[in-house]
Amino acid sequence: MKPIKIAVASGKGGTGKTMIATSLAACLSIDHAVQFLDCDVEGPNGHLFLKPNISGTYPSTLLIPEVDPELCDACGKCVEVCQYHALALLQKQILVFPQLCHGCGSCTLNCPPGAIHEIPREIGRISQGETASGILFYMGELITSEPMPTPIIHQLKALAGEPEEISILDSPPGASCAVVATIFNADYVLLVTEPTPFGLHDLRQMLGVLQKIGTPAGVILNRDGIGDKSVETFLSETTYPILMKIPFQSEIASGLAAGQIMSDILPEYQEKFINLYKTIKESVQPRLGEG
Ligand code: SF4
Ligand code: SF4
Repeated sequence: MKPIKIAVASGKGGTGKTMIATSLAACLSIDHAVQFLDCDVEGPNGHLFLKPNISGTYPSTLLIPEVDPELCDACGKCVEVCQYHALALLQKQILVFPQLCHGCGSCTLNCPPGAIHEIPREIGRISQGETASGILFYMGELITSEPMPTPIIHQLKALAGEPEEISILDSPPGASCAVVATIFNADYVLLVTEPTPFGLHDLRQMLGVLQKIGTPAGVILNRDGIGDKSVETFLSETTYPILMKIPFQSEIASGLAAGQIMSDILPEYQEKFINLYKTIKESVQPRLGEG
């Protein structure tokens, strides 16, 4: 069987995305080899539920330019090629603005006298470990005040490598480039939303992104029963199915607050998550080229 990568995303924070991602991983780990990537690098919290034993933590770095003033002739070529305004020429000196630099390397390549070399700048860290149930766990953490989450997500995915069987990616909230970096190359996206006008607004944004990428997706309606029917009405006119509805229940909230996985709080959901995976698998098999 080809491995399957399932990204769990939501248009906005606080919809229960990590609750779904961790429950799905825990339920599937009973019978499958599962890896879990916490790509929500600005606020990773999958570890609070899966409780992995962390075996390694590594700095996440970006290569940024450093200019040798002895070699620089102030030609300005590096400033010209930088698309991110991370360099400025001031009184015949090149100034580097590290937080604007995307580490693309263009300035180094285009410096005529070779006055630029690259130095690593730490922007966060990535960790790996394993849970008691055998889930291979990977987590990225962006340093507070650092503006660019995408390099950590790319490094996290590179560290995890190809899954043996199933990969669950917990995406950042929203519809930003960090979300695209997470869901890019996923075989299926589970969109978690809630039945409110805010949920609908953010769901529309995410579906717009997914339509451009072309990844199949389905929706989980969390806190069903609060709000209105606008999400369901909207989805009934699209090809995106509602795969699961989770009613609002105070015991879920209190269990989550105590660090419990949702499918442990309500064990009847174990079978529902396993069936959810079967539905996803059937949906992606034609795309993966398997019968
Ligand atoms: S590495 Fe790229 S983004 Fe950074 S300063 Fe050089 S050209 Fe600009
Ligand atoms: S391209 Fe090289 S030589 Fe020209 S200003 Fe930039 S660092 Fe200096």
